[in-house]
Amino acid sequence: MADKYRSIRGMADILPGEAKLWQRVEAAARRVFELYGFREIRVPLLEPTELFARSIGETTDIVEKEMYTFSVGTSGPYTLRPEATAGVVRSYIQHRLHLDPAARKLYTLGPMFRHERPQKGRYRQFHQVNAEMFGYPGPRADGELIVMLMSLLGELEVPDARLHLNTLGCPECRPDFKEELARFLKARAKELCKDCRRRAKSNPLRVFDCKKETCQAILKGAPTVLDMMCPGCRDHFEGVKSILEKAGIGYRLDPYLVRGLDYYTRTAFEVKTDMLGAQDALGGGGRYDLLVKELGGPSTPAVGFALGVERLILLLKKAVKEEAPGLSVYLALLGDDAWDAGFELARGLRREGIDCEVPLDARSLKSQLRYADKLGARYVFILGEEELSRGAGTLKEMATGLQEDVRVEDLVDFIKKRL
Ligand code: AMP
Repeated sequence: MADKYRSIRGMADILPGEAKLWQRVEAAARRVFELYGFREIRVPLLEPTELFARSIGETTDIVEKEMYTFSVGTSGPYTLRPEATAGVVRSYIQHRLHLDPAARKLYTLGPMFRHERPQKGRYRQFHQVNAEMFGYPGPRADGELIVMLMSLLGELEVPDARLHLNTLGCPECRPDFKEELARFLKARAKELCKDCRRRAKSNPLRVFDCKKETCQAILKGAPTVLDMMCPGCRDHFEGVKSILEKAGIGYRLDPYLVRGLDYYTRTAFEVKTDMLGAQDALGGGGRYDLLVKELGGPSTPAVGFALGVERLILLLKKAVKEEAPGLSVYLALLGDDAWDAGFELARGLRREGIDCEVPLDARSLKSQLRYADKLGARYVFILGEEELSRGAGTLKEMATGLQEDVRVEDLVDFIKKRL
């Protein structure tokens, strides 16, 4: 029978078997970010459409084709966030966070929404961990941020991750670069796809987002910012590279890395892997010195990154064996009085931070033991009416099968010592 209701295409359920890995990624991100002095911020999933159009850029793929936008009655239009930075910056401005020195380093975790064609590693609801740093114009901020990102990947033991680095210039040198690029594209317009011919006129940098091999081949000869950057951008870029080199972080210069959003200036980076096929970007980010002002705040330099959780999980799953669910103690209880005593014992174990379960339906001992085994219980404590009357139950260690009598009142301490 076909299921009556199914999840929306491109929006996946994260089932209990996989959730442990998600928790591991999220906990590692929190731990590493907090080691660097980042603090959590949580912003709504829904924002005014205008915020994204203005920040990400009207002529980007995201804004042109991929946003979930709607109105309710006379309110709206609203958009489900396709990325996190715009909302964080909106909040930073709205709450005058530039006045709070403790709000210069912010991180957030959560779902994003893009109406892309779903495939492995690409979904319509996906999750990111994001880190943003405000108020630091110099290369040390970019350097520290990238070092933090790479140490998170190291902590997670990601099996294959390669840092790609580029600079996108600033208002001083980018116009010259754009002009040069536009000239290059005009001369080859006939060979470019229809989308790229349009991009070449409206926003030349965006041609680098094109996935078509024919366009990619042409772009291999395109001018790069690296050839044309101003002294300020050159110094900044050298500063970032030197921090990475001192930290022992390898990188690849990638002059055609432009990122799919318009707000970046200077440093742009991406972490890629060879283990995920076409969707090879694990995360990326860069500097966006103009965005806070552009969105109505005080002129504030900023740099940040986003890491895709689904792709990280896909990669980690290749490296780690799926863990059994695991439970410290299962209390196998037979009869009402034993159940009452067992329930009390379970409360005592949980007060001590020891995870345990009691049967919530009437089952035979054999079926309880089978269930405890499925849960991956380390110990089973068997308590029936007979055991209860002598004040001691049987503790079974599941891995070895060893059994011993343990007095009911001693059980919590006994288990505490063993775990
Ligand atoms: P972006 O800012 O678009 O480069 O996104 C940053 C990261 O988020 C990417 O490197 C991916 O890991 C992840 N990501 C972006 N879009 C998707 C998607 N549609 N499905 C899954 N992950 C995505």
